[in-house]
Amino acid sequence: MYPRVVIDINKLHNNIRKTNELLSSNNISMMFVTKCFSADENIIKPILDIDFEYLADSRIENLKSMDYTDKKKVLLRLPMLSEIHEVVKYTDLSLVSEIETITALNLAASEQDKIYEVILMIELGDLREGILEKDIDYYISEILKLSSIKLKGIGVNLTCYGSVIPDEENLGELVRIKKDIEKKHNIIIDMISGGNSSSVHLLMENRLPKEINNLRIGEVNLFARESAYLKKLDGLYDDIFILEAQIIELKEKPTLPYGNIGYNAFGEKISYKDEGIKMRAILAVGKQDVDFENMTPIDERVRIFGTSSDHLIVDLTDTEYKLGDILSFKLNYVSTLNAFTSKYIEKIYINE
Ligand SMILES: *Cc1c(COP(=O)(O)O)cnc(C)c1O
Repeated sequence: MYPRVVIDINKLHNNIRKTNELLSSNNISMMFVTKCFSADENIIKPILDIDFEYLADSRIENLKSMDYTDKKKVLLRLPMLSEIHEVVKYTDLSLVSEIETITALNLAASEQDKIYEVILMIELGDLREGILEKDIDYYISEILKLSSIKLKGIGVNLTCYGSVIPDEENLGELVRIKKDIEKKHNIIIDMISGGNSSSVHLLMENRLPKEINNLRIGEVNLFARESAYLKKLDGLYDDIFILEAQIIELKEKPTLPYGNIGYNAFGEKISYKDEGIKMRAILAVGKQDVDFENMTPIDERVRIFGTSSDHLIVDLTDTEYKLGDILSFKLNYVSTLNAFTSKYIEKIYINE
């Protein structure tokens, strides 16, 4: 059935193995982030032999489904007060930033006879999750009073909301905060989680502070791209997720719509360029599956004209395609996320 996404598990295995080697040779543990592909077990199971320690996801439903592995499970999104019991039950570690949430985790952990680990997130400028520096001492003192919570470490998240790039300054600040906490509270902080795929460029340039000993990595593993400067990583594949869609109309037509021009299917005013007559194809895939801005035709002769909810219109001039043929597109992070949450897209796994 089409549309479908073909996932090359061998290439993914290569990517995760190499990224994990890069990290572990720098004494950095990896949390492999699975939310982009809804933690699909057909993707996770074949890569479990690689010796990274953690699987991480932002949704409890996804983490709950990973009952087939002993790898530690990490909730990346701050826990909701309404899911605390499940968080403690199905995960080993959460990123946290609210004392009320941490207290609730403590209660649930004590009820479940567990010691539950947390990473306290610190705000360093990106303005998503994290406590402000002035509140650190209070938070640490409060956490240390809780008998069923272990403060595993501190962490930061960057380049998500505020587009802030990790550098020696902000990550250096995180290291300084860690040392301060250790001295003031006379404790040892095991883990400094120094961000996501946007921190990887520092590692490659040997600029990552050596105290950073954990990274949470989705994009580099899945798309071979660090997310600070969007550079491709050598030796990793960037074509693991391929969308295939079928041609349902193929005709020579003008490029300029004719008649009274108003709005398109989404209420937008679009300006169209007259390029004369082109061989136009309609593919049976649309905005509700994946958005065309986030997919790249594999055949470089193919150009995307536009899309509506269920149709993708492409230029196939000077190609040999026929009605019923299948066109392939490389997906990026956003379109892969869309594809995996769409029930209309079949998934095929290549794994010989
Ligand atoms: C999604 C997420 C990540 C992974 O980000 P990538 O850019 O895909 O590596 C890491 N940390 C947190 C908190 C996240 O939500």
